[in-house]
Amino acid sequence: MSMLELLKTTIETKSTVMDGNILKTDRFLNQSVDPVLMKEIGLAFFEHFRDEHPQKIITIESSGIAPAMAAAFEFNVPLVFLKKSRPLSMRNPLIATVHSYTKNIDTLLYLEEGLIEPGERVLFIDDFLANGQAYTAVKQLVNDAGAELCGVGIVIEKAWQKGHQILMDHNENLCALASIASMSEDGIVFCEE
Ligand code: 5GP
Repeated sequence: MSMLELLKTTIETKSTVMDGNILKTDRFLNQSVDPVLMKEIGLAFFEHFRDEHPQKIITIESSGIAPAMAAAFEFNVPLVFLKKSRPLSMRNPLIATVHSYTKNIDTLLYLEEGLIEPGERVLFIDDFLANGQAYTAVKQLVNDAGAELCGVGIVIEKAWQKGHQILMDHNENLCALASIASMSEDGIVFCEE
């Protein structure tokens, strides 16, 4: 079974469509993580982005960490995750605001100075793309650090929301592994490949 077949089958059999356009994926992607699927996902991102030569992978805690770590293994580069609260040990963070799609609140994201270095090529990996708010905040922090975003890898894109178009408008190299055209309690319809 190909990575895409495995991902689509897992989405179809293990996720639930919630009110308000949210896909509950805590049986394989969020609170509980399928390691075999993550390994395949990491490899798929490696194959798509290998020519971008990323030097760091970046994501947001906590749901992005599993697929981002899988990609970091394949590229053999460090993973940096943005924190949603500031530990006492954090000295001089760069800060951005992000609106959480699933929690419907604004959250601050913290990146300790020096973890992303000026001039570095950074690949953003996340679990979902909805309205592109996470992308906008990550791009700001990467730019504030003097580095460059070289691509955006998404496990599940909800194609009817604004994020996809925002990334296209910014000419980003976007790789969305599974792209959902529509979903309801009756089922999930994937975009044509
Ligand atoms: P965006 O910033 O693109 O609006 O939303 C992306 C972020 O919101 C992701 O980091 C993800 O954690 C969360 N998210 C958005 N839509 C969904 C969804 O349908 N299901 C889950 N589990 N998370 C989502």
